[in-house]
Amino acid sequence: MNENDLIYGFAKEHVIEASGLIALMLPQTFGAGIAVKAMDGRYKLVNQAMQSYFRKTSEQFTSLTDAELFPSEVAEQLQRSDAQIMAGAATCSDQLDCVVDGRPFQCLWFKFPVHGPDGQLQYIGAAMLDTARMGNIDKMQKSLEFLQHSNQELQKTLAELSKLASTDKLTGAWNRRRLEEALVNEMDRLARYDQALSMLVIDIDFFKKVNDVHGHTVGDQVLVTLANVLQSKLRASDTLTRWGGEEFVVLCPNTTLPTATILAERLRDSIAKTTFPVVGSVTISLGVAECMAGETWEAWFKRADTALYRAKELGRNQVEIAHETAERDGAVKSMAANLVRLSWHAAYESGNQVIDEQHRGLFLDANNLLGAVLSARPEAEVAALVNTLIKDVVQHFKEEEVIISAAGYPRATEHAAIHSALIDKAVLLVKHFHEGTLTMGELFQFLARDVIARHILGADREFFAYLQPKPQS
Ligand code: GH3
Ligand code: MG
Ligand code: MG
Repeated sequence: MNENDLIYGFAKEHVIEASGLIALMLPQTFGAGIAVKAMDGRYKLVNQAMQSYFRKTSEQFTSLTDAELFPSEVAEQLQRSDAQIMAGAATCSDQLDCVVDGRPFQCLWFKFPVHGPDGQLQYIGAAMLDTARMGNIDKMQKSLEFLQHSNQELQKTLAELSKLASTDKLTGAWNRRRLEEALVNEMDRLARYDQALSMLVIDIDFFKKVNDVHGHTVGDQVLVTLANVLQSKLRASDTLTRWGGEEFVVLCPNTTLPTATILAERLRDSIAKTTFPVVGSVTISLGVAECMAGETWEAWFKRADTALYRAKELGRNQVEIAHETAERDGAVKSMAANLVRLSWHAAYESGNQVIDEQHRGLFLDANNLLGAVLSARPEAEVAALVNTLIKDVVQHFKEEEVIISAAGYPRATEHAAIHSALIDKAVLLVKHFHEGTLTMGELFQFLARDVIARHILGADREFFAYLQPKPQS
């Protein structure tokens, strides 16, 4: 572990213990009592000297407040100096002359702020000197000021270091370490809540040539521009990591393979359309993989990387989808298409011929749209399929409402309200899609999954019983 790693780890977990530095140093030098008090007024940490002044163990001490330790006028005095620290004072002191547990107490308290990693006041530190025994108070004061100052410096440095330690200097993207940290959380979420998690691995095509022809500085500039373009196309929850030289990884929480594939295609397209200074155009190849239940990061990455390699082999400037298992390298088959293609089952039939025909038609509309999206058909073509789907949905809803009312389904009005809410939302989402604030993947998810699959397999089933042909009597 190098020094950065050590300090970074320290910054993450132990910034508060920076006050521990003071606690460690002072008792040996001055025999001073040191305490750290939480913002609720309870003591959090006291050193040995403090424990013996008050004849309390650390356990007894912590969670006590000044009001429980001192006569009320002393407690009030101490609270006033706490308030000064909270108001931003760097230090302040209290001279106490009182009786505690029947013993005279003459002491001097110095207060100082203890800041958290975000620079906010987190605790109030206190150093207590027994004035009867202490000679060199001046020295103490100076020493405290010095420690307080270096504590501030330390916090600042730690904050900078932790930022530096987690981003790539050239592109500002995350570095590997930051990604690895995020992965722990994301993979845990995947395991616990069964949330989808996908990854794109991106590699610049023929980047060596850029360096060879234009020089390394221009190559670096390409990396910066490329990272900016990628970053601008990602959703807030997606993260861009510079994985190595000219290789990037995008982690997409809550994203299934089809959606990640659409994102990959979008990234490929925007890079291909970007004009890079000096070099003109640059292309990227991408591998996409969704993390499977129980899969390790290594296996998952390997699948995405193998897909990337295949994209290179197939001619570069393209997206390849990872196979479900690292071993199965047979026929390339679009798992994305498999995953969300809606297939009809006899069990979905309602008993009414018109409704069933239309339901099947909607499945087909969704599948056509999916096919167009996954094979990156021109936007106008995709938009036309979206329109067809919505037109068919509107028409179907209308006819279905007539049929179920006629069949005497008692909640027909309620069902019509569900229809109208779905249509309203679909219209809104299409608008967002055209305005560029919603991805095709998200629009597709809503149309295919919420409007068609979930509605037909869910709410619709409730009226099926009313549509069954009546037995002849
Ligand atoms: P391919 O399409 O197969 O990926 O071809 P390529 O030339 O991109 O691949 P290769 O892995 O052979 O070369 C990658 C090059 O990326 C080699 C190296 O000079 C360059 N590179 C890696 N990191 C940096 C960097 O930080 N700055 C610059 N300017 N170039 C870099
Ligand atoms: Mg490479
Ligand atoms: Mg390359």
